[in-house]
This record gives sequence, C-alpha cells and structure tokens, in this order.
Amino acid sequence: MHVEAHVVALDGPAGSGKSTVARAVASRLGFDYLDTGAMYRAVAFEAIRRGVDPQDAERVGEIAKRMDLEVGERVVVNGADATIEIRGPEVTRAVSSVAAHPKVRSELVLRQREWATGRSGVVMEGRDIATVVFPDAQVKVFLTASEDARADRRSKEMRDRDYSDVAADMVRRDRADSTRAASPLSAAADAIVLDTTALSSDEVVDKVLELARSKWGDVQ
Ligand code: C5P
Repeated sequence: MHVEAHVVALDGPAGSGKSTVARAVASRLGFDYLDTGAMYRAVAFEAIRRGVDPQDAERVGEIAKRMDLEVGERVVVNGADATIEIRGPEVTRAVSSVAAHPKVRSELVLRQREWATGRSGVVMEGRDIATVVFPDAQVKVFLTASEDARADRRSKEMRDRDYSDVAADMVRRDRADSTRAASPLSAAADAIVLDTTALSSDEVVDKVLELARSKWGDVQ
C-alpha cells in the first residue's frame, strides 16, 4: 500500500498513555489526530442503544457498515452526540466483543484509511495501526507499561469508579484484545517499543518527536 501522508502509528494496550501522547505529538507536528478506539466504542454504543447483542457478528457488522460517524472533538453517532457515553462502563465492557468481529474491523479500517487520504500528516492511535491499517507508516511506536501503572492511569481518568473494577476491566479487555483471531493487539516487527512505566508523558512525547524528526527532519 502506498502511503502519501506522513503517518505516525501509535499502538498499545489500555492505560499505556497513547491518547495523551498522540494528541501532544499531533499538535507539536501540526498533524491531524485520530483516536480509532473511539470508532470501535461508537459501534458498541450504537449496538447497545439498539438492543443488539455485542456478540452478534452479523448485526453488529451491519451497524458498523451503515453508521454515520464523526470522530473529532465530539463523537457523533447517527446524529447523536455520544462523546460522554462511549467512555462509560457499559460501552467499555462491550467494546472488545464488538472489535473482535472481522466485518466491523474491515469497515473501520477502510474508514480510517479514507480519513487519512488527502491529509499531509496524521497521528493515528489504536491497536492495529502499524500492523494492519498503515503497515507502511514511517513512524511506528508501541507503548507499553506495567499492569499497575496502566491501572493507576485508567483509574485517575475514571475518578467515579472503584480502582479494582477499573483494573479488572482493563485486564479483561487486554486479554480479549490480545487473543482475538482478527488483528490481535501486538507490536509490529518494525515498531519501536517504548516502556512508559517510569516516564512522564512529556518524556514519551519527546521520544516520539525525536523519531519523527529522524525520519522527516523538521516537519513543521
Ligand atoms: O483505545 P480504547 O481503549 O478506547 O479502545 C477501545 C477498544 O477498541 C479496545 O479495547 C479494542 O477492543 C478496540 N480497538 C481495536 N483496534 C483499534 C482501536 C481500538 O480493536 N485500532
């Protein structure tokens, strides 16, 4: 696949710091940013809203195919603002089942590639960006962190929820994402793996920027 844009692919498990780092890198490079997890969450949201079982591959696949979806500052699903709901516990519990369906994945991967078309520089974060969506991306980073550090970060983001619930949800979701048959979470062979356990997000951002500049010089 020929990639026209400058692509920074950021993958990793929940709580590895992807979103914070991806937003900051995009803003420093003047690139556009896409959170692909929000797209899988939007499909889960719509399935729940319609009373469709998240395990029903056929019906959930149809929802993904037909849905009108905007992902930016706000996430709008078939005209309804779902920005808050897609982060809630119900969607979080359902999203890994939804993301395991090959029909859902092929539809969203298509939309992710379309989104990047015509943009000069993009930062895309997810689970399969470097392995599937943009295997030719010039900058590929896989963020990891210890389970404790990741659970700490997640529970700080979700202050209204009990730490042990957040940690258990996270472990369950990681297991599902890493063991599914379709595009499981894994680092691309040519990705730089960064363990962020002992790093601040500024330090991680600097490392990713260093990599980007080593490929493209000063892109700004
Ligand atoms: O990144 P976030 O935690 O919001 O992602 C929610 C879920 O969406 C993940 O647990 C995973 O099941 C799915 N996902 C995926 N592929 C991506 C991004 C997210 O399967 N590229």
